[in-house]
Amino acid sequence: MNETLFHDLQHMDQLLQQTKDYSAAFLSGIDSLPVDVARGSLPSLSLPKQGIGASQALSTFKNRYDSLLAGNAGSRYWGFVTGGATPAAIAGDWLTSVYDMNAANKDGASFYIEGETIALLRQLFGLPDAYTGVFTSGATMSNFSGLAIARQWLGNRHGVDVAQEGVAALPAIKILSCTPHSSTVKSMAMLGIGRNALVKIPSLPDRESVDITALTAYLEAHKNESLIFVAAAGTVNTVDFDDLQSLAVLKQQYGFYLHVDAAFGGFAACHSDYRHLLQGWESADSITIDAHKWLNVPYDSAMIFTRHPKLQMAAFRNVGASYLPDPDEFFVYSNYTPENSRRLRALPAWHTLMAYGANGYADIVENNVRLTKKLGALIEGSDTFRLLAPVNLCVVCFTLNGETEELPAAIKQFLQAMNESGKVVMTPTVYQGIPGIRAALVNWRTTEEDVEIVWEEMSQLIAAI
Ligand SMILES: *Cc1c(COP(=O)(O)O)cnc(C)c1O
Repeated sequence: MNETLFHDLQHMDQLLQQTKDYSAAFLSGIDSLPVDVARGSLPSLSLPKQGIGASQALSTFKNRYDSLLAGNAGSRYWGFVTGGATPAAIAGDWLTSVYDMNAANKDGASFYIEGETIALLRQLFGLPDAYTGVFTSGATMSNFSGLAIARQWLGNRHGVDVAQEGVAALPAIKILSCTPHSSTVKSMAMLGIGRNALVKIPSLPDRESVDITALTAYLEAHKNESLIFVAAAGTVNTVDFDDLQSLAVLKQQYGFYLHVDAAFGGFAACHSDYRHLLQGWESADSITIDAHKWLNVPYDSAMIFTRHPKLQMAAFRNVGASYLPDPDEFFVYSNYTPENSRRLRALPAWHTLMAYGANGYADIVENNVRLTKKLGALIEGSDTFRLLAPVNLCVVCFTLNGETEELPAAIKQFLQAMNESGKVVMTPTVYQGIPGIRAALVNWRTTEEDVEIVWEEMSQLIAAI
């Protein structure tokens, strides 16, 4: 064994203790770190011929990166849709590395842990047992997987095994959606369906939710075509939901494949006040839910649920690998996901679900929604900002008051000043043609005081512009 490796092996306990102390210090100070920092340039680094050992590597890393490490996982990172990691999730994630199991294997602990975690999640979301689920690396890969199943499903109806014969063997696929996330369109590109296959169905006035009448008219005019509908259960700008109940009725009538992208909106199911937004989602053929957003586990983690595990296996099975178990005889996760070797992503989720339970997640959702509404109310009551849309769940979509032509420059300046303040991060958007700003609150740490800190910063910065 290499000498340095041998030394580290002898000092594993010390190294983990050092890492733990450093982690605890980082986490306890996270709220006083700048939320984000400007990218500096680093001097180049050469690969050491003689390694410096793990302990030395840790201190070299700290010296080199300390000024770039920000409170991204803290309570005021409100850009995109960004969760943090609960204490239990961090513990579970640490253990994932300690065990370093390949969650592709057909039995052993990883197999049971993933199955059990999916069952816990079904209970959290109130999804019927008929849904099977697997972990992926993020909602993008879950949407990719959902559309791969959809492609296989359409093939079935034409007597074509798409995974075997390719999309060219199918009549042209159309993917209908009103407000798809960019990852759906990216998945279409990756799956050989092509971005041009997207058909945007109009929304209801002043909404991001599909106009069911317009959709019905489209379906009536395109009977017998190969159609997939990708529904939004929580859009990123305004957390709008498609009417899933009406979609379920139309699905019955017209027989399209229904995929629901509930990346973060799926967490509405955790709270009795918001569960109704998802009514009808149990008619979906497949459902995407992200875990590294509102479940607050570390990156990279999401789930794809489906009622068609056989089609999922047809799309993702390994063929011709004699060293792998026969997919028809043994359930193996890697025959159901884009990845073959897999990190045990279920473990952080298992820990956080057991640690905080259904009530814990109802509280996280309730707390985030209350604080989002508070920020929304402050904006609504001000004469320097205005809401671009009513506040739903966890996102405030707003803009500055003023002339529309001046907005892009003013927003850029304001956002830059705000993000450089280190107090908060928000991200730009355009909503119904108007440049705006989004704040998304899905971190378990966020408190009333955070909203006050941010509001004060916003008020000062806008006064200075
Ligand atoms: C975040 C998000 C995605 C993509 O998720 P990743 O985890 O970044 O891959 C897809 N759909 C919706 C609605 C999202 O909010």
